[in-house]
Amino acid sequence: MPITAPTTPPGLPASLDYPEVPVGSILAAGAARWGDRTAFAHDGHSLTFAETHRAACRFANALRERGIGRGDVVALHLPNCLAFPVAYYGTLLAGATFSPANPLLPPDDLAFQLTDCEAAAVVTFGPAAGALASVADRIPARFTVVVQPAGDLPEGAVEFEAFHAAQPETPPAAEVDVHEDLAHLAYTGGTTGRSKGVRLSHRNVVVNTLQHACWGTGSVPALDAHGDVTLDQIGSEDEWPSRLGTGVAINLTPWFHAMGIIGGLNAAVIAGTTMVLHTRFDPAAYVTDAERLRITGIGGAPALFAALLATPSFHTADLSSVRSIGSGAAPMNHAMIEALRERFPDVVVVEGYGLTEATMGAVISPTYRSGTRKVGSVGLPIFDTQVKIVPAEGGEDPLPPGEQGEVCLRGPQIMLGYRNRPEETAAALVDGWLHTGDIGILDADGYLSIVDRKKDMLLYKGYNVFPRELEELLVTQPNVAAAAVVGRPDPEVGELPVAFVVPRGPLDADGLMAAVNEKVLPYKRLREVHVVEQIPVSAAGKVLKRELRRQLIGKLE
Ligand code: AMP
Repeated sequence: MPITAPTTPPGLPASLDYPEVPVGSILAAGAARWGDRTAFAHDGHSLTFAETHRAACRFANALRERGIGRGDVVALHLPNCLAFPVAYYGTLLAGATFSPANPLLPPDDLAFQLTDCEAAAVVTFGPAAGALASVADRIPARFTVVVQPAGDLPEGAVEFEAFHAAQPETPPAAEVDVHEDLAHLAYTGGTTGRSKGVRLSHRNVVVNTLQHACWGTGSVPALDAHGDVTLDQIGSEDEWPSRLGTGVAINLTPWFHAMGIIGGLNAAVIAGTTMVLHTRFDPAAYVTDAERLRITGIGGAPALFAALLATPSFHTADLSSVRSIGSGAAPMNHAMIEALRERFPDVVVVEGYGLTEATMGAVISPTYRSGTRKVGSVGLPIFDTQVKIVPAEGGEDPLPPGEQGEVCLRGPQIMLGYRNRPEETAAALVDGWLHTGDIGILDADGYLSIVDRKKDMLLYKGYNVFPRELEELLVTQPNVAAAAVVGRPDPEVGELPVAFVVPRGPLDADGLMAAVNEKVLPYKRLREVHVVEQIPVSAAGKVLKRELRRQLIGKLE
């Protein structure tokens, strides 16, 4: 079959019934069901599921009092912290739209994003508030809420607790059209490298959360006594090592990214998983906490597993409580999968594939014990999702199994489109099929392997680095005639950004690298600059990046 049919995990239906509820319903049902169980713990503080819901209701009422509701965007310029779920669900319970902003964004990028999404309010935190204050006169936000205020603050900023502490603890009446109203407006470079807002409805977010939570725990969606969405565990314990209401995980994945907000936050709230937040990754501290807290799952990008495997205590600690291992955002290499299988012989090692335009995920390996995991493949289409491979040069007709081409996805989690970019939306969405810009192969059993990217993008620890941004900075420096950036494969981090530059006068490679690096986020920094006589181009004038990568790897050998 050239288009894969949905696959049914044992005991579960092929297709799920997705209740038509807004995203806030996930927290309401989580609070009703998991009540006094700890939902989040961070630095000696914690919130139960019920406390999180009450605080989110207060936050929603505070937003409403300030006139924020349906159609308004609230940007969360926050790292993972206890305030995040309160502000996130509070925004959604108020009927408004959540737009995440990486707290490390340089001021110009932050100003662009907050203007493009027309954020009516911003929630920030002390260490990042200065960057926000520096662009305050360039953004449309009506007010700012600050968690742990410190340093320069935007004028009129209100402290987080003072903003919502005295509000009622029942959710405000909020009308939401789950198909049309946006729950998330998430920024990504997508297939062209220009930062674009991905429009995700409440239905997109609820569906993708349920697809993953059900696939992960062997359950199906259900409604609780209040009409909120919960899960019914129907898969057997022999098949499904992850059980509802028993999970404990250390959360490192940022909630401003798709993998964090769906897989790390919403899926955990609906499944009753306790999340212990580590905001800084220290592998030894991770292992100590993993043993002490008896964590049940390890999840993150491959860079997390590379670092853990290189940590001596990871191999000796008692981690017998771990029942599942999940990796996503970037390819996991074979050696790493084998090393994890050896370390945890009874644990199901799962890979997932997706992108912001698919809310988060679309393809995943079996999480049940009888499932076949094929090393090198990211797995099977998740519930109600179809995958086809089309020729990379263009065309919509699916290629036969075994042939390489662009991966296209169709399903109820696919975005509504990009914000204010009709041409880019039309190019990305054709008859409901999302063109991902990733190059892959489907095998005869319907397993997908990702082999390359059509879009010009590198992955550093699962973070997207767009060479074009670095190239544009390079060519604005003195004496740079041309520049091209490619990734050097690295077993620990994925890919390291490396530049090739053609000089038009005397050029100091180290000085050039430093000048560019001070303008970009740490994960985008160039690691090498090679001064060359020319950059190879095709007959059509396109830089031959494959050739540069080949030269680079040749150089390293
Ligand atoms: P983002 O929108 O930031 O989630 O980035 C999505 C991109 O990350 C995809 O289009 C892929 O290029 C890459 N990606 C995500 N998951 C995987 C995976 N399991 N294997 C290989 N690449 C992946």
